[in-house]
Amino acid sequence: MIQVTRSSMPDYEEYCREIRSMWDSHWLTNMGEKHRQLESDLKAYLDTPNIVLYTNGHLALEDAIAAMDLPEGGEVITTPFTFASTTHAIVRKGLKPVFCDIRLSDFTMDPEKIRPLITEKTCAILPVHVYGNLCDTEAIAAIAEEYGLKVIYDAAHAFGVRKNGISAANFGDVSMFSFHATKVFNTIEGGALCFRDSSLTEEFNDRKNFGIRNPQEVVFVGGNAKMNEFQAAFGICNLRHVDEEIAKRRKADALYRRLLEGQKGIVIQKLSPEDKANRHNYAYFPVLFDGYRMSRDEVSDALKAHGIMARKYFWPLTSSFECYRGETFADPSKTSCAGYAAERILTLPLYADLTEEDVRRICAVILEA
Ligand SMILES: *Cc1c(COP(=O)(O)O)cnc(C)c1O
Repeated sequence: MIQVTRSSMPDYEEYCREIRSMWDSHWLTNMGEKHRQLESDLKAYLDTPNIVLYTNGHLALEDAIAAMDLPEGGEVITTPFTFASTTHAIVRKGLKPVFCDIRLSDFTMDPEKIRPLITEKTCAILPVHVYGNLCDTEAIAAIAEEYGLKVIYDAAHAFGVRKNGISAANFGDVSMFSFHATKVFNTIEGGALCFRDSSLTEEFNDRKNFGIRNPQEVVFVGGNAKMNEFQAAFGICNLRHVDEEIAKRRKADALYRRLLEGQKGIVIQKLSPEDKANRHNYAYFPVLFDGYRMSRDEVSDALKAHGIMARKYFWPLTSSFECYRGETFADPSKTSCAGYAAERILTLPLYADLTEEDVRRICAVILEA
């Protein structure tokens, strides 16, 4: 059996050493020593001026939206080619998603298609760095500036990615990372917000703790989204090894490319060359089956028959979700490239410990079935 992903875990002894001090302190959550250390380790790793940790990425995203002071019922331009979390966060915060189409070259929001969607109600843009492919951040920043819009990035996939020397943490007003077990870097469940305006640090820290600033002052109708000490300790350990993990992913990615490239109807996204200033994280290996002799669903079934779990990620579009049926914003026919990709995309298994033999087996099934 080969799963689509396999969570990175620290060495058992290493984790035990990391959590040992908690049996002396009895400090288990509420911004303890491990929380503070992981925050500072991540600040350095992500090269970002401001970071606040969360118990998961989704609640972080909801707080990011809440802190932007957007008008009730305001329109947020976003993408339907994403995980449920992105769209749900907008709707759960009382805003209206307006779906923009994507580019098939990298599956991120097509900046050429943003302007026609802007109305007097538009208040923010919420794009996703899909598969760790950074959006056209320059074009999006220019539009946001022209119309006075906030930019919130769903950077759940983009841990450790850099473009022209700039970390994925440093685009837009705020970026959300997910440290869920399935992500490149994980704290079991977890997440973080990174942002430019340092005055937001206090607000996010309050919001994730019921809006409590101090025992006398409760300043927001906040929820509870604090990362606990066991999560933070897991992250401290995993962060020590994340570069090796990404290097292993890079090797598997390269082998996939070598084995699948040039096959008619198998479209693999091109990655720009890497150097110190430009880094990918090899979070996923998406393949478009576009005119291949088997459809995406047939390839998926053939893999499953061999015990190999690939994922139709992202299918269906969030604009096709049952929970949004009947909503005026949920019209998948308006985002034809996203719809095209959703019908043809398959992300193949990719994780640090995926062996060369596994990759060869997966490709053999795809090519020989
Ligand atoms: C994983 C993910 C999230 C949500 O993160 P959680 O940590 O699981 O809450 C949001 N957006 C995208 C695109 C994701 O992949």
